[in-house]
Amino acid sequence: MPSLEQLRFDNSYAHLPAGFSVRVPPQPLEDARLVSVSPEALRLLEIDASEVQRPEFVEAFGGVRPLPGMEPVAAVYAGHQFGVYVPRLGDGRALLLGELQTSTGERWELNLKGSGLTPFSRRGDGRAVLRSTIREYLCSEAMHGLGIPTTRALCIIAGSEKVYREEVETGAMLIRLAPSHVRFGTFEYFHHTKQREHVATLADYVLARHFPHLEGTKDRHARFFAEVVERTAQLVAQWQAVGFAHGVLNTDNMSILGLTLDYGPFGFLDDFEPGFICNHSDDFGRYAFNKQPRIAVWNLARLAEALATLIPQEEAEAALQAFAPSFSTHFLARMREKLGLREARAGDLELLETLLARMTEARVDYTRFFRRLGRFDSSTEARNEPLRDLFLDTAAFDAWAAAYRTRLLSEGSEDAERCTRMERANPKYVLRNYLAQTAITRAQEGDFSEVERLRAVLSHPFDEQPEHEALAAPPPAWGKHLAVSCSS
Ligand code: AMP
Ligand code: MG
Repeated sequence: MPSLEQLRFDNSYAHLPAGFSVRVPPQPLEDARLVSVSPEALRLLEIDASEVQRPEFVEAFGGVRPLPGMEPVAAVYAGHQFGVYVPRLGDGRALLLGELQTSTGERWELNLKGSGLTPFSRRGDGRAVLRSTIREYLCSEAMHGLGIPTTRALCIIAGSEKVYREEVETGAMLIRLAPSHVRFGTFEYFHHTKQREHVATLADYVLARHFPHLEGTKDRHARFFAEVVERTAQLVAQWQAVGFAHGVLNTDNMSILGLTLDYGPFGFLDDFEPGFICNHSDDFGRYAFNKQPRIAVWNLARLAEALATLIPQEEAEAALQAFAPSFSTHFLARMREKLGLREARAGDLELLETLLARMTEARVDYTRFFRRLGRFDSSTEARNEPLRDLFLDTAAFDAWAAAYRTRLLSEGSEDAERCTRMERANPKYVLRNYLAQTAITRAQEGDFSEVERLRAVLSHPFDEQPEHEALAAPPPAWGKHLAVSCSS
């Protein structure tokens, strides 16, 4: 494994034409210290674990002394925020430090979040607080553990600086990783400022690096857009299946690679509640859990507009039309796995919808229900008490259970084999808000052990981890409706 100084960095994004980004030196935090590192991310970047101990590590990733080849820049973008077009956003508190090339030829962009003021900071202070940094760090690694496309996180660096939000908080920085941080909003910026040639420049840059199989093909831009639609449909299907609400699905938070991007006031469902609004500032529920698929199409339509100079309208429309069937196919496939169904049958959607309706009425914990469903006993005399007990209306549950049993038997399902499969589809551990909050409170007192524990447990969310059983518990009363908002 190479040492820090041997890491191969460059920054191709910084070398795009002027107007794509601005060179900005990071502003380090006072008393910067490394408080958590993801060993998985270290491996991904091929950084030797012993390097973490060196002061150069926190200096390099905390913005004090960038490594050779890094060229920190703030990228410009725009976006539709809550449905309203904002012509200029951009990295207001983050910098793209550079791209790291690994021995296998993978390229990872390193993005330093909380790095100080940039020309895009608008009214903000350019900082991130420890609370939001921990939430993003834990959730991105948890999503990866769940098999959901996401940006990753390398480490958290905390400082002594006070940062003013609704209250005084501690400033911190996060190193985020992704093959690309280009957003729908990056294309929107160049389109709406009528820099048509730059829309093409950006498209060709993204295609060359991330869609190389499309290069040189006729109608490559239309095919690119169709792939973005497909990746986004798959991504949102996975969110819906696991019970994840992003919270701020503005077009500037939509990744061109179909990754979960920009963790803010996200939330995992505790009780199954289709209209769950995790973002305290989302007064009208625009980004409620069950609206995510519709919002994704709306956002894709904004991307299509931004690509209008490259793609004939009929082709863009045809690609957009493909979202709904693709989403349904992926969602139903994921839900069949959660139900332990191997075969696809006509009545499956109805079986699922009835279950979700019963769960909504009874406010059943989403994650716990599906985990327990893996132990469903399909023999006729079984009452399946552990599941039944979750419902007030036990007769309604019994009726559903009878239909489910019939459906299982119709494909010759065998309990033990199905259980093994279902435990790979239904996580035991998800980053519930109250878990994150407990880790944050401790961290704010200087104890990062709970952050570390959650990171480790959530990186294997499908495994039984008996010593961490408590982390699979539903929220206590105080943790049920925690307010999380955008400004963090
Ligand atoms: P977000 O809601 O975090 O996706 O951010 C929306 C826009 O606001 C982006 O352009 C961010 O860079 C910017 N922004 C968010 N927080 C801050 C901050 N504390 N300082 C400067 N800019 C910020
Ligand atoms: Mg954002």
